[in-house]
Amino acid sequence: MLTTVELETRELEQYRTAVLPGVVEAIRDDARPLRGARVLHVNATGYGGGVAEILGSMVPLMRDLGLEADWKVISGSDPFFGVTKAMHNALQGKPHRWTQEERTLWVETSRANAQTWEEYDFVVVHDPQPAPILGVLRADGRRPGGKWLWRCHIDLTDAQPETWGLLRPYVAEYDGTVWTMPQYVREGVSEANRFIAPPAIDPLSAKNVTLRPGEADSVLERFSVDSPRPMVCQVSRFDPWKDPLGVIDAYRIARERYPELQLVLVGSLAHDDPEGQEWLQKVLKHRSRDADIHVLTNMDGVGNHEVNAFQEAAKVVIQKSTREGFGLVVSEGLWKGRPVIGGNCGGIPLQVRDGETGYLVDSSAECGERLIELLSDEDTCRRMGAAGRELVREHFLLTRYLHDYVRMFRTLAGLRPSERD
Ligand code: UDP
Repeated sequence: MLTTVELETRELEQYRTAVLPGVVEAIRDDARPLRGARVLHVNATGYGGGVAEILGSMVPLMRDLGLEADWKVISGSDPFFGVTKAMHNALQGKPHRWTQEERTLWVETSRANAQTWEEYDFVVVHDPQPAPILGVLRADGRRPGGKWLWRCHIDLTDAQPETWGLLRPYVAEYDGTVWTMPQYVREGVSEANRFIAPPAIDPLSAKNVTLRPGEADSVLERFSVDSPRPMVCQVSRFDPWKDPLGVIDAYRIARERYPELQLVLVGSLAHDDPEGQEWLQKVLKHRSRDADIHVLTNMDGVGNHEVNAFQEAAKVVIQKSTREGFGLVVSEGLWKGRPVIGGNCGGIPLQVRDGETGYLVDSSAECGERLIELLSDEDTCRRMGAAGRELVREHFLLTRYLHDYVRMFRTLAGLRPSERD
């Protein structure tokens, strides 16, 4: 069964002060012919991770443009989410041999969710978990109307061929696909309606608004982080590809030089991510008895406001991933005017321009050295942070992504391209 996610309202007008001049008008003009169109986004979780983060703001903004937009999440058993996490890992390069039971569970969960299918003008299905929905509807002789997009948020550069082979026939059913970077597209994907659109952050969400003076410090105090002492942080699901253990190693290198340094690792436990608990335990073990490494989760009451405070209070934001589809957290850190040290992979180099908005690193040792460098150079931190904020303003705010969807829908509807295209 698909479950509708309840959403707050958002008005595009409120974004005017955050975005470049003319952006709000351009989106409205291009969306006008789409008014009244029924749009559905489908994904695997209403909470945790980048997709949920984006849809919570994107869908209300589509409504504000006059589209009848909804967001629904699929239901699935724990074994189903185990299978889709293995699939996610295999698409990022980790070998996995598929059993017939796993294949069946993946496809049949889509069939169960599609039982009471309603009609839409545009359906956007996110990532592999619900990808078979269109295929099973057709296989069952139903003829779902509307235009269908499959939106892939994952870095498929090293996708295991067997796993991509499983997904590909279902992806081929769609009218179009959306990718974060051209390099992620795998063989067998039609060139027709193949769109490149990186994700983006919401400057008005509680996670990204500018905090009042003192607000960040009071959050730090609440979690026993010493606000006068320097702190660096990483905010990420507890997941091997986010390399939380490597972040601790890098911190330990920097701490040799800066004994006062503290590390905050914030990680949510997402509903569709069964590995979270296991990796949280690994992180706690690796932390050992170091009281200056703060490991916090949503279960401790770390929500959007608190994440905002930690990113803002950090001297440097870290995202030491070894695979990263995009990495919203990178733009979140840059938007707060912080330099970001990021793993040199996936979508991170789109945001971390090496030496300009932060540093790209390939190891914990390098990350530690760059931390030392930045902690000793406030001017560079300020310069990189300012450059990062402007980079995000131009390329990675939600308004740009909203505009991308409006353009994609226009193309799929056969409307003439907007005058700016
Ligand atoms: N996030 C959060 N709390 C956490 C961990 C992550 O709010 O404890 C948010 C984070 O701020 C970002 C999103 O979840 O907005 C993660 O998106 P990203 O693209 O960085 O990674 P993903 O989880 O999608 O791989």
